[in-house]
Amino acid sequence: MSHTYIRHAQALDVLVVGAGVVGTALALALGRQGFKVGLLERDHPAPFDPGAETDLRVFAINHASQRLFQSLGTWEAMVSRGVSPYEAMEVWDARSPGRIRFEAAEVGEADLGHIIENRVIQTVLWEALEGADVLRLCPASLAHLDVSGERVRASLDDGRVFEARLVVGADGARSRVRSLCGIGVDVTRYGQKAVVANVSTERPNPATAWQRFLPSGPLAFLPLADGRSSIVWSTDTESAEALLALDESSFCRELGAAFERRLGEVTATSARAAFPLAGSQAKHYVRSRIALVGDAAHTIHPLAGQGANLGLADVAELARVLAESAGRDPGDLRGLRAYERARRGENWVMMRAMEGFSGLFGSRLAPVELARGLGLNLADRLPAIKNGFLRRALEG
Ligand SMILES: Cc1cc2nc3c(=O)[nH]c(=O)nc-3n(C[C@H](O)[C@H](O)[C@H](O)COP(=O)(O)OP(=O)(O)OC[C@H]3O[C@@H](n4cnc5c(N)ncnc54)[C@H](O)[C@@H]3O)c2cc1C
Repeated sequence: MSHTYIRHAQALDVLVVGAGVVGTALALALGRQGFKVGLLERDHPAPFDPGAETDLRVFAINHASQRLFQSLGTWEAMVSRGVSPYEAMEVWDARSPGRIRFEAAEVGEADLGHIIENRVIQTVLWEALEGADVLRLCPASLAHLDVSGERVRASLDDGRVFEARLVVGADGARSRVRSLCGIGVDVTRYGQKAVVANVSTERPNPATAWQRFLPSGPLAFLPLADGRSSIVWSTDTESAEALLALDESSFCRELGAAFERRLGEVTATSARAAFPLAGSQAKHYVRSRIALVGDAAHTIHPLAGQGANLGLADVAELARVLAESAGRDPGDLRGLRAYERARRGENWVMMRAMEGFSGLFGSRLAPVELARGLGLNLADRLPAIKNGFLRRALEG
């Protein structure tokens, strides 16, 4: 029926551009609320193959994100496809005696969060869209937006045209929605890349998220369900390229040494990949009839594994604001501004905190080294500070 789209623009309440974790969750939430939603995605999601190698992109999902998935009725399906709870977190420093350990049991929780593959979240959310009557427009790309009066006209690269009362950019860090709307973005390039891989170690990972601060950047080992670890090794761009170029046994040796062999030797690695790291914040999250969510609105350093969690917090807030406007126009700027007020400052604080943290740990100044060591050890011994920090990390 594509010829009808060419002649008459199809009318939607909300068009979500980008079906990453964030856009798909938002489309599902709004579809469940009774909005007529279209979800546009450039690349068709690969069919889920349980026997395939674990995704290189995994997320440490906090309790707030888990609650969102529960409210969308998708959590059980994610659990059955494979999630990995982590019960402890340990952070230590390569250049000082600083060390801190968090245990879920200390704050009366069963876990501190779950490690979940990107493909598990996306498959489950994508399948759930069927029941929510969301129009899936895939594969197709956004080509043009024309915002005028009561509606936005969205033209796709295949010639189809849709009209929506609200267009949401969930189209990632290089958001086309953001650039088509002329919304500027402040970008801080960290001059680093994150090397990611799934690795086996002599001893299985005991459901613990580990992070070691090296002079060149943080190295994280996150527990996978099969006892392996998903690693995120942030380092300067040149070193990251060199790590990718190493043969498997040399890479495993370097990685084991960088991790102080906390789980014995690293015995095998999957394919490796590297992502450039940048922090960014859109100058505005909303315009009349436009909203940005997830990486389209903000990106942060992956050291605390908060990127997707912040995007899912955007989803929860935008869905809440639009639910309150039920019966009214979802593109109304007053409602959208309430979303921006609630989220932009929060995301900014988290971004700055991550930069401060990585700057503190990157510093070679002796007083900073001392403070760093003392800070971590002191926090480890003061339950009130430690548990306060933990509560904040759990809830996002
Ligand atoms: C190394 C690394 C490790 C990380 N670890 C964690 C972690 O442990 N926990 C965590 O919470 N976060 C983590 N993050 C951050 C996390 O990956 C991102 O914050 C999150 O994936 C953003 O999701 P999104 O849906 O906003 O964007 P994306 O995942 O980028 O999705 C955007 C979608 O839009 C589509 N698209 C783009 N342009 C168009 C167009 N013109 N038309 C149609 N479709 C389009 C794309 O195909 C894509 O599917 C990590 C990031 C990195 C780099």
